[in-house]
Amino acid sequence: MLTLGSDTLVLASHNAGKLREIADLLAPFGLTVRSAASFGLEEPAETEDSFEGNARIKAHVAAKGIGLPALSDDSGLEVEALDGAPGVYTADWAETPTGRDFDMAMEKLWQRVQETGAADPLRARFVCVLCLAWPDGSDRIYRGAVEGVLVWPKRGARGFGFDPMFQPVGETETFGEMDPSRKHEMSHRAVAFGKLVADILGR
Ligand code: IMP
Repeated sequence: MLTLGSDTLVLASHNAGKLREIADLLAPFGLTVRSAASFGLEEPAETEDSFEGNARIKAHVAAKGIGLPALSDDSGLEVEALDGAPGVYTADWAETPTGRDFDMAMEKLWQRVQETGAADPLRARFVCVLCLAWPDGSDRIYRGAVEGVLVWPKRGARGFGFDPMFQPVGETETFGEMDPSRKHEMSHRAVAFGKLVADILGR
């Protein structure tokens, strides 16, 4: 088991939904958790074409810039009927000139899937790659995924992003309907986080 080597961990994300979920998952570990934004750090451009590559960029920029261990999350939704799209570009599908609009992005995704003629079950998976980086340039990578199906109309107002149209296998609720504690038992982020805990935090 490795140790973090610090009582403070920087969360290298500017996404409010991710920050909330990662803070929930870290709550039992007694760390001081601060966002990169609270140190005045801007989010770097995500120029890689893999979750691992983009997670590394975000964690290393924060760890080096702030001088503390930093944890990033790069994640997205892979839709079977779209050959894995939007994948690493999931957030981009929500971009508008005035900010991100996930209602629009979900409509667009559903439209694209309909155009393929694919029938139920419309298989999809959420993927999350966490990168923990230290100021000396070392890092660890943890990947998690959760399998599910797309549903329409979307259901629920909890969670964030594409949660209202994703129903995990074996569940009757979408991530948008589910109690957050239930999502934290099975989500892609929770699976990746469990690997980080086993490796670093020792529980
Ligand atoms: P990025 O990792 O900053 O490139 O953005 C990932 C995008 O994937 C987010 O903006 C969300 O749209 C989506 N996403 C990732 N994880 C989740 C989740 O747990 N629920 C819903 N959408 C998610």
